[in-house]
Amino acid sequence: MVSFALSGVGVSGGIAIGRAQLVSHATIEVSHYTIPVGKVDTEIARFSNAVKEVQKELEGLHLALTGGDVPGEFGAFLDVHWMILTDPTLSEAPKRLIAEQRCNAEWALTQQLSVLVEQFEQIEDPYLRERKADIVQVGERVLKRLMGKPGSLPAAVAEEQTILVAHDLSPADVIQFKHHHYGAFLTDVGGVTSHTAIVARSLNVPAVVATHNARQLIRDSEMLIVDGNAGVVIINPDRAVLSEYRLKQSQIELERQKLKRLRTKPAETIDGVRIELHANIELPEDVAQTLENGASGVGLFRSEFLFLNRVGLPTEDEQFEAYRAVAEGMHGHPVTIRTFDLGADKNVQGLDGLARVAPNPALGLRAVRFCLAEPRLFLTQLRAILRASHYGKVRILIPMLASSSEIEQTLFMIEQAKESLREQGVPFDSGVEVGGMIEIPAAVIAMDAFVTKLDFLSIGTNDLIQYTLAVDRADEAVAHLYDPLHPAVIRLLAMAIGTAAKAETPIAVCGEMAGEVQLTRLLLGLGLRNFSMHPAQLLAVKQRVLTSGMTASKHFVDRIRRADSPDKIAALVDKLNAL
Ligand code: PEP
Ligand code: MG
Repeated sequence: MVSFALSGVGVSGGIAIGRAQLVSHATIEVSHYTIPVGKVDTEIARFSNAVKEVQKELEGLHLALTGGDVPGEFGAFLDVHWMILTDPTLSEAPKRLIAEQRCNAEWALTQQLSVLVEQFEQIEDPYLRERKADIVQVGERVLKRLMGKPGSLPAAVAEEQTILVAHDLSPADVIQFKHHHYGAFLTDVGGVTSHTAIVARSLNVPAVVATHNARQLIRDSEMLIVDGNAGVVIINPDRAVLSEYRLKQSQIELERQKLKRLRTKPAETIDGVRIELHANIELPEDVAQTLENGASGVGLFRSEFLFLNRVGLPTEDEQFEAYRAVAEGMHGHPVTIRTFDLGADKNVQGLDGLARVAPNPALGLRAVRFCLAEPRLFLTQLRAILRASHYGKVRILIPMLASSSEIEQTLFMIEQAKESLREQGVPFDSGVEVGGMIEIPAAVIAMDAFVTKLDFLSIGTNDLIQYTLAVDRADEAVAHLYDPLHPAVIRLLAMAIGTAAKAETPIAVCGEMAGEVQLTRLLLGLGLRNFSMHPAQLLAVKQRVLTSGMTASKHFVDRIRRADSPDKIAALVDKLNAL
């Protein structure tokens, strides 16, 4: 077996050692394994039989339709599927792939499906473009047949030793992994602060994205080492490399265990400045991890994640139960519920407003814009949050605000929700605080409206960087341009924290920068006193806070604010961290 390495972008630290499991493009997961030379013809025959069986299946369906009380479109629909199935691009091309690559039939078919889907995505005509869904459906029929009669599938391994390898994973895919214990995952595409990466970090498993072609090069069941810190993947490592990484793995585990001792220690700098360390969560069940890591509150509950793997949004009661569970679970500590940040990479099936593909989703109908465009949906969520405020210290956080009119419209909606609850005699905390996320440069530059109209602020650095530098946070092609240490980002942060301090409006950072230990001292030096991050990072950041002093860092932070290049800033941050 050939040993080789791939590099990508490490988005979640730690080391995992385990076996690869490939996740396919189609909704069905397929394996990828090598066929012995003498078995290639048998594999091709297995594929041909599966295609024939699906042909019979379609013929049977057609027969069942004739004479019945069934609309004519169904017949036409089956005809389209028949044509797709018998087209050589689907029924012949995979055979060639099996022979050339000596791969299993399922893998050959999924590869060919990916090619066809990509071709259809380039088609201008929207009707024809939509036919790609039919291709996937036909392909999946054949895949199911193949999987019902598998070839020599590799043996299954425990989840903890399973490393998922995918071309791409959506935030909705990754959130489902909360119910599994996979060892790590790798994707061909993705950026450091894509929501997929963020959820990987919250799962506390190593993850490497932007590997470009991991899914093509790695085979099912191959032994892998994933180094999430270095962004490196080693395929089929030899024994020496394996034992070196096993040692590293146990050292990391030892460090993690040591950090646990800090759980109940107050987060204070050497000079006695008290720092709030809050947690970012996606689901109510994350409260357990939040408390385990000693967070003094929830600084960001990404409420939209609750509802990703379903059709449509949940009822007010369902939402209320979820919010109440978090409010009660945090025992009086603040719980900051961010209203739905849907759109861009987080879509919900069945919501008309999100059905169309926006020309540029990150600049489109996302977050508060979407909520204001769908007032009924927004009111339902606001009522559910307000009802939960009766059971703990709940705060409302509005994402992606850009202007004072959006703030006013939102506050008006909150008043309406309160009024309707009052009329029905439903209890809620009438003093519930309302905050805004600072994620758009315009919000920093014109922050006076924010500090006068809102009770608190939270800087979403993931989006603030994306919108300041015009770099799509989920696109690996520009991942190298995504830089938290760009002078424009640092100056905007300094400006936001400074303006809020002057107005005595509490401000936090809840983007990924807050959980980055290398940036803790910089943020402290810029005046930040409230950090919100995924719980797994909390104790490491606390450790850094405990060894940091404000006075000593002042000189470096002043120079950082004036520096004119990311390199100079990075060098100064290194010096700051070495103090
Ligand atoms: C951010 O943009 O920094 C943020 C915290 O929100 P999200 O990552 O969910 O967009
Ligand atoms: Mg954001």
